[in-house]
Amino acid sequence: MKHTKIAIIGAGRVGTTTAYALMLKNIVGEILLVDIDPQRCKGEIFDLADTLSFSTASNIHEATLTQAGQADIIILTAGIAQKPGQSRTELLNTNHAIITDIMRDMQPINKNAILLMVTNPVDLMTLCAQEHAGLPRNQVFGSGTFLDSTRLQLAIANSVGVAEESVQAYILGEHGDSQFPAWSSAQISGIPLLKFPDLTEADLLKIAHQTKNKAYDIIRCKGSTFFGIATCIAALCESIIFNQKKVFTLSVFNQEFGVCLSVPAVLGERGIEKTLPLPLSVEEQKQFTASAQALRRSKESFDQ
Ligand code: NAD
Repeated sequence: MKHTKIAIIGAGRVGTTTAYALMLKNIVGEILLVDIDPQRCKGEIFDLADTLSFSTASNIHEATLTQAGQADIIILTAGIAQKPGQSRTELLNTNHAIITDIMRDMQPINKNAILLMVTNPVDLMTLCAQEHAGLPRNQVFGSGTFLDSTRLQLAIANSVGVAEESVQAYILGEHGDSQFPAWSSAQISGIPLLKFPDLTEADLLKIAHQTKNKAYDIIRCKGSTFFGIATCIAALCESIIFNQKKVFTLSVFNQEFGVCLSVPAVLGERGIEKTLPLPLSVEEQKQFTASAQALRRSKESFDQ
Protein backbone atom coordinates (compact mmCIF):
# COMPACT_ATOMS: atom_id res chain seq x y z
CA MET A 1 0.00 0.00 0.00
CA LYS A 2 1.41 3.38 -0.94
CA HIS A 3 1.82 5.97 1.77
CA THR A 4 -1.54 7.57 2.30
CA LYS A 5 -1.81 10.75 4.19
CA ILE A 6 -5.44 11.74 4.61
CA ALA A 7 -6.43 15.17 5.89
CA ILE A 8 -9.90 15.64 7.36
CA ILE A 9 -10.95 19.26 7.69
CA GLY A 10 -13.72 19.61 10.25
CA ALA A 11 -13.32 17.50 13.39
CA GLY A 12 -17.04 17.43 14.08
CA ARG A 13 -19.37 14.43 14.02
CA VAL A 14 -18.85 13.55 10.34
CA GLY A 15 -15.09 14.25 10.35
CA THR A 16 -14.27 12.24 13.46
CA THR A 17 -16.53 9.31 12.53
CA THR A 18 -14.77 9.28 9.15
CA ALA A 19 -11.37 9.14 10.88
CA TYR A 20 -12.64 6.24 13.00
CA ALA A 21 -14.02 4.37 9.96
CA LEU A 22 -10.72 4.83 8.10
CA MET A 23 -8.71 3.60 11.07
CA LEU A 24 -10.84 0.48 11.46
CA LYS A 25 -10.56 -0.25 7.74
CA ASN A 26 -6.76 -0.32 8.10
CA ILE A 27 -6.08 1.48 4.85
CA VAL A 28 -4.41 4.72 5.96
CA GLY A 29 -0.83 5.66 6.82
CA GLU A 30 -1.43 8.95 8.59
CA ILE A 31 -4.48 11.06 9.46
CA LEU A 32 -4.37 14.85 9.84
CA LEU A 33 -7.27 16.51 11.61
CA VAL A 34 -8.02 20.24 11.27
CA ASP A 35 -10.67 22.26 13.07
CA ILE A 36 -11.22 25.90 13.85
CA ASP A 37 -11.87 24.86 17.46
CA PRO A 38 -8.46 23.69 18.78
CA GLN A 39 -9.82 22.31 22.04
CA ARG A 40 -12.34 20.12 20.27
CA CYS A 41 -9.70 18.96 17.79
CA LYS A 42 -7.26 18.09 20.57
CA GLY A 43 -9.89 16.10 22.48
CA GLU A 44 -10.99 14.18 19.39
CA ILE A 45 -7.37 13.29 18.56
CA PHE A 46 -6.74 12.06 22.12
CA ASP A 47 -9.82 9.91 21.91
CA LEU A 48 -9.19 8.58 18.37
CA ALA A 49 -5.54 7.80 19.19
CA ASP A 50 -6.80 5.05 21.48
CA THR A 51 -7.73 3.21 18.27
CA LEU A 52 -4.13 3.25 16.92
CA SER A 53 -3.24 -0.16 18.44
CA PHE A 54 -5.89 -1.68 16.17
CA SER A 55 -5.05 0.26 13.01
CA THR A 56 -2.33 0.56 10.37
CA ALA A 57 -2.52 4.34 10.79
CA SER A 58 0.85 5.24 12.28
CA ASN A 59 -0.35 8.52 13.57
CA ILE A 60 -3.31 10.86 13.95
CA HIS A 61 -2.45 14.44 14.71
CA GLU A 62 -3.62 18.02 14.48
CA ALA A 63 -2.54 20.00 11.42
CA THR A 64 -2.76 23.45 9.91
CA LEU A 65 -4.64 24.05 6.67
CA THR A 66 -1.32 24.52 4.86
CA GLN A 67 -0.20 21.06 6.01
CA ALA A 68 -3.58 19.56 5.12
CA GLY A 69 -3.16 20.95 1.60
CA GLN A 70 -0.19 18.61 1.11
CA ALA A 71 -2.10 15.40 1.92
CA ASP A 72 -2.87 12.68 -0.68
CA ILE A 73 -6.60 12.84 0.02
CA ILE A 74 -8.28 15.91 1.55
CA ILE A 75 -11.77 15.45 2.96
CA LEU A 76 -13.85 18.57 3.63
CA THR A 77 -16.45 18.19 6.39
CA ALA A 78 -16.09 21.65 7.97
CA GLY A 79 -19.12 23.88 8.27
CA ILE A 80 -22.54 24.02 9.82
CA ALA A 81 -24.96 21.09 9.62
CA GLN A 82 -28.75 21.00 9.16
CA LYS A 83 -31.01 21.57 12.13
CA PRO A 84 -34.33 19.68 12.34
CA GLY A 85 -36.59 20.72 9.42
CA GLN A 86 -33.84 22.71 7.69
CA SER A 87 -32.96 21.93 4.04
CA ARG A 88 -29.35 21.51 2.93
CA THR A 89 -29.63 24.56 0.67
CA GLU A 90 -30.27 26.75 3.73
CA LEU A 91 -26.64 26.16 4.77
CA LEU A 92 -25.34 27.70 1.55
CA ASN A 93 -24.28 31.20 2.63
CA THR A 94 -22.42 30.18 5.78
CA ASN A 95 -20.74 27.11 4.34
CA HIS A 96 -19.77 28.84 1.10
CA ALA A 97 -17.82 31.41 3.13
CA ILE A 98 -16.17 28.67 5.22
CA ILE A 99 -15.17 26.54 2.21
CA THR A 100 -13.83 29.54 0.27
CA ASP A 101 -11.64 30.56 3.23
CA ILE A 102 -10.38 27.00 3.69
CA MET A 103 -9.49 26.68 -0.01
CA ARG A 104 -7.52 29.93 0.18
CA ASP A 105 -5.69 28.95 3.38
CA MET A 106 -4.69 25.51 2.04
CA GLN A 107 -2.82 26.97 -0.96
CA PRO A 108 -0.71 25.82 -2.65
CA ILE A 109 -2.55 22.47 -2.65
CA ASN A 110 -0.59 19.31 -3.56
CA LYS A 111 -1.14 19.08 -7.33
CA ASN A 112 -1.84 15.32 -7.07
CA ALA A 113 -4.28 15.61 -4.17
CA ILE A 114 -7.80 14.23 -4.40
CA LEU A 115 -10.28 16.58 -2.77
CA LEU A 116 -13.50 15.06 -1.51
CA MET A 117 -16.32 17.42 -0.55
CA VAL A 118 -18.86 16.38 2.07
CA THR A 119 -20.02 19.69 3.55
CA ASN A 120 -23.59 20.54 2.54
CA PRO A 121 -25.11 21.62 0.25
CA VAL A 122 -22.54 19.25 -1.19
CA ASP A 123 -23.18 19.86 -4.92
CA LEU A 124 -22.75 23.63 -4.59
CA MET A 125 -19.80 23.21 -2.22
CA THR A 126 -18.13 20.91 -4.78
CA LEU A 127 -18.51 23.58 -7.46
CA CYS A 128 -17.06 26.16 -5.05
CA ALA A 129 -14.09 23.86 -4.29
CA GLN A 130 -13.51 23.23 -8.00
CA GLU A 131 -13.44 26.99 -8.62
CA HIS A 132 -10.94 27.70 -5.81
CA ALA A 133 -8.73 24.61 -5.43
CA GLY A 134 -6.58 25.11 -8.53
CA LEU A 135 -6.81 21.38 -9.29
CA PRO A 136 -8.24 19.59 -12.36
CA ARG A 137 -11.98 18.97 -11.96
CA ASN A 138 -11.55 15.17 -11.94
CA GLN A 139 -9.56 15.52 -8.67
CA VAL A 140 -12.32 17.48 -6.93
CA PHE A 141 -15.71 15.83 -6.45
CA GLY A 142 -18.49 15.47 -3.90
CA SER A 143 -19.91 12.47 -2.04
CA GLY A 144 -23.15 13.45 -3.80
CA THR A 145 -25.91 10.85 -3.76
CA PHE A 146 -23.66 7.87 -2.94
CA LEU A 147 -25.22 7.71 0.54
CA ASP A 148 -28.74 8.11 -0.94
CA SER A 149 -28.05 5.29 -3.40
CA THR A 150 -27.00 2.96 -0.56
CA ARG A 151 -30.20 3.91 1.30
CA LEU A 152 -32.22 3.13 -1.83
CA GLN A 153 -30.50 -0.23 -2.36
CA LEU A 154 -31.11 -1.23 1.26
CA ALA A 155 -34.80 -0.27 1.10
CA ILE A 156 -35.27 -2.29 -2.11
CA ALA A 157 -33.36 -5.25 -0.66
CA ASN A 158 -35.52 -5.23 2.48
CA SER A 159 -38.73 -4.98 0.44
CA VAL A 160 -37.89 -7.88 -1.84
CA GLY A 161 -35.97 -10.02 0.64
CA VAL A 162 -32.57 -10.20 -1.11
CA ALA A 163 -29.08 -9.12 -0.05
CA GLU A 164 -28.27 -5.47 -0.63
CA GLU A 165 -25.30 -6.39 -2.88
CA SER A 166 -27.74 -8.04 -5.30
CA VAL A 167 -29.46 -4.70 -5.95
CA GLN A 168 -28.17 -2.24 -8.55
CA ALA A 169 -30.11 1.02 -8.24
CA TYR A 170 -29.06 4.66 -8.23
CA ILE A 171 -30.27 8.00 -6.92
CA LEU A 172 -29.18 10.75 -9.34
CA GLY A 173 -29.11 14.55 -9.35
CA GLU A 174 -28.90 16.76 -6.30
CA HIS A 175 -27.96 15.42 -2.86
CA GLY A 176 -31.10 17.14 -1.69
CA ASP A 177 -34.76 17.67 -2.38
CA SER A 178 -34.69 17.39 -6.22
CA GLN A 179 -32.94 14.00 -6.29
CA PHE A 180 -34.68 11.06 -8.00
CA PRO A 181 -34.28 7.28 -8.39
CA ALA A 182 -33.34 6.01 -11.86
CA TRP A 183 -35.91 3.21 -11.75
CA SER A 184 -35.74 2.35 -15.45
CA SER A 185 -32.18 1.02 -15.11
CA ALA A 186 -32.52 -0.50 -11.62
CA GLN A 187 -31.98 -4.26 -11.39
CA ILE A 188 -32.00 -7.12 -8.95
CA SER A 189 -29.33 -9.58 -10.14
CA GLY A 190 -29.93 -8.68 -13.77
CA ILE A 191 -33.75 -8.64 -13.55
CA PRO A 192 -35.12 -5.17 -14.34
CA LEU A 193 -36.68 -3.82 -11.16
CA LEU A 194 -39.74 -2.53 -13.04
CA LYS A 195 -40.48 -6.13 -14.09
CA PHE A 196 -40.04 -7.50 -10.60
CA PRO A 197 -43.29 -9.18 -9.55
CA ASP A 198 -43.13 -8.27 -5.84
CA LEU A 199 -42.81 -4.49 -6.25
CA THR A 200 -45.83 -2.31 -7.07
CA GLU A 201 -45.70 1.31 -8.20
CA ALA A 202 -46.91 2.31 -4.74
CA ASP A 203 -43.96 0.41 -3.20
CA LEU A 204 -41.52 2.29 -5.44
CA LEU A 205 -43.04 5.67 -4.57
CA LYS A 206 -42.82 4.84 -0.87
CA ILE A 207 -39.17 3.72 -1.17
CA ALA A 208 -38.20 6.89 -3.09
CA HIS A 209 -39.96 9.06 -0.50
CA GLN A 210 -38.28 7.29 2.43
CA THR A 211 -34.87 7.55 0.77
CA LYS A 212 -35.21 11.27 0.10
CA ASN A 213 -36.41 11.98 3.62
CA LYS A 214 -34.19 9.64 5.61
CA ALA A 215 -31.71 12.39 6.59
CA TYR A 216 -34.60 14.60 7.80
CA ASP A 217 -35.95 11.67 9.85
CA ILE A 218 -32.57 10.91 11.44
CA ILE A 219 -31.92 14.59 12.21
CA ARG A 220 -35.39 14.90 13.78
CA CYS A 221 -34.64 11.92 16.07
CA LYS A 222 -30.99 12.48 17.04
CA GLY A 223 -29.86 15.85 15.66
CA SER A 224 -27.46 14.77 12.91
CA THR A 225 -26.32 11.98 10.60
CA PHE A 226 -22.77 10.67 10.51
CA PHE A 227 -22.37 6.86 10.54
CA GLY A 228 -23.65 6.30 7.00
CA ILE A 229 -21.70 9.15 5.40
CA ALA A 230 -18.50 8.23 7.27
CA THR A 231 -18.74 4.65 5.99
CA CYS A 232 -19.34 5.94 2.45
CA ILE A 233 -16.30 8.25 2.65
CA ALA A 234 -14.11 5.38 3.84
CA ALA A 235 -15.29 3.29 0.85
CA LEU A 236 -14.45 6.18 -1.51
CA CYS A 237 -10.95 6.49 0.01
CA GLU A 238 -10.47 2.74 -0.45
CA SER A 239 -11.35 2.97 -4.13
CA ILE A 240 -8.81 5.80 -4.54
CA ILE A 241 -6.00 4.20 -2.50
CA PHE A 242 -6.27 0.80 -4.21
CA ASN A 243 -7.21 2.22 -7.64
CA GLN A 244 -10.30 -0.02 -7.52
CA LYS A 245 -12.23 1.93 -10.15
CA LYS A 246 -15.50 1.19 -8.37
CA VAL A 247 -18.65 2.95 -9.57
CA PHE A 248 -20.43 5.33 -7.18
CA THR A 249 -22.96 8.10 -7.73
CA LEU A 250 -20.78 11.15 -7.11
CA SER A 251 -21.17 14.89 -7.57
CA VAL A 252 -19.19 15.87 -10.66
CA PHE A 253 -19.20 18.87 -12.98
CA ASN A 254 -21.87 18.86 -15.68
CA GLN A 255 -20.79 20.92 -18.68
CA GLU A 256 -24.32 21.44 -20.01
CA PHE A 257 -25.73 22.99 -16.83
CA GLY A 258 -22.53 24.43 -15.30
CA VAL A 259 -23.17 22.82 -11.89
CA CYS A 260 -22.06 19.69 -10.04
CA LEU A 261 -24.56 16.89 -9.48
CA SER A 262 -24.53 13.12 -9.18
CA VAL A 263 -24.17 10.55 -11.92
CA PRO A 264 -22.48 7.12 -11.82
CA ALA A 265 -18.72 7.72 -11.85
CA VAL A 266 -15.64 5.48 -11.89
CA LEU A 267 -13.30 6.32 -8.99
CA GLY A 268 -9.61 5.42 -9.08
CA GLU A 269 -6.24 6.72 -7.88
CA ARG A 270 -6.42 9.84 -10.09
CA GLY A 271 -9.93 10.71 -8.92
CA ILE A 272 -12.92 10.56 -11.27
CA GLU A 273 -11.75 8.45 -14.24
CA LYS A 274 -14.97 8.79 -16.20
CA THR A 275 -18.72 9.03 -15.79
CA LEU A 276 -21.03 6.32 -17.11
CA PRO A 277 -23.88 7.08 -19.50
CA LEU A 278 -26.76 5.53 -17.54
CA PRO A 279 -29.76 5.20 -19.90
CA LEU A 280 -32.69 7.24 -18.54
CA SER A 281 -36.37 7.17 -19.46
CA VAL A 282 -37.91 10.35 -20.87
CA GLU A 283 -39.42 11.11 -17.45
CA GLU A 284 -36.09 10.53 -15.66
CA GLN A 285 -34.28 12.76 -18.14
CA LYS A 286 -36.78 15.51 -17.26
CA GLN A 287 -36.11 14.92 -13.55
CA PHE A 288 -32.36 15.17 -14.13
CA THR A 289 -32.79 18.45 -16.00
CA ALA A 290 -35.09 19.80 -13.26
CA SER A 291 -32.55 18.84 -10.58
CA ALA A 292 -29.69 20.52 -12.48
CA GLN A 293 -31.84 23.63 -13.02
CA ALA A 294 -32.74 23.78 -9.32
CA LEU A 295 -29.02 23.74 -8.46
CA ARG A 296 -28.34 26.34 -11.14
CA ARG A 297 -31.03 28.62 -9.65
CA SER A 298 -29.53 28.25 -6.14
CA LYS A 299 -26.10 29.11 -7.51
CA GLU A 300 -27.37 32.12 -9.47
CA SER A 301 -29.42 33.53 -6.58
CA PHE A 302 -26.34 33.15 -4.39
CA ASP A 303 -24.07 34.84 -6.96
CA GLN A 304 -26.27 37.97 -7.12
P1 NAD B 1 -20.40 19.42 13.19
O1 NAD B 1 -20.97 20.72 13.63
O2 NAD B 1 -20.41 18.27 14.13
O3 NAD B 1 -18.88 19.62 12.71
C1 NAD B 1 -18.47 20.64 11.87
C2 NAD B 1 -17.07 21.04 12.30
O4 NAD B 1 -16.56 22.01 11.38
C3 NAD B 1 -17.03 21.68 13.70
O5 NAD B 1 -16.12 20.96 14.54
C4 NAD B 1 -16.54 23.10 13.43
O6 NAD B 1 -15.73 23.62 14.49
C5 NAD B 1 -15.74 22.88 12.15
N1 NAD B 1 -15.49 24.11 11.40
C6 NAD B 1 -16.33 25.13 11.14
N2 NAD B 1 -15.69 26.08 10.44
C7 NAD B 1 -14.43 25.64 10.23
C8 NAD B 1 -13.29 26.17 9.55
N3 NAD B 1 -13.33 27.38 8.94
N4 NAD B 1 -12.16 25.44 9.54
C9 NAD B 1 -12.09 24.25 10.14
N5 NAD B 1 -13.15 23.69 10.82
C10 NAD B 1 -14.29 24.38 10.85
O7 NAD B 1 -21.17 19.05 11.84
P2 NAD B 1 -21.25 17.59 11.18
O8 NAD B 1 -22.49 16.91 11.67
O9 NAD B 1 -19.94 16.93 11.30
O10 NAD B 1 -21.55 17.99 9.64
C11 NAD B 1 -20.52 18.58 8.87
C12 NAD B 1 -21.01 18.89 7.47
O11 NAD B 1 -21.25 17.65 6.78
C13 NAD B 1 -22.35 19.65 7.43
O12 NAD B 1 -22.35 20.62 6.40
C14 NAD B 1 -23.36 18.55 7.13
O13 NAD B 1 -24.54 19.04 6.53
C15 NAD B 1 -22.54 17.70 6.19
N6 NAD B 1 -23.04 16.34 5.96
C16 NAD B 1 -22.97 15.90 4.69
C17 NAD B 1 -23.45 14.64 4.38
C18 NAD B 1 -23.42 14.19 2.94
O14 NAD B 1 -23.99 13.14 2.59
N7 NAD B 1 -22.76 14.93 2.06
C19 NAD B 1 -23.98 13.82 5.39
C20 NAD B 1 -23.98 14.30 6.71
C21 NAD B 1 -23.52 15.58 6.99
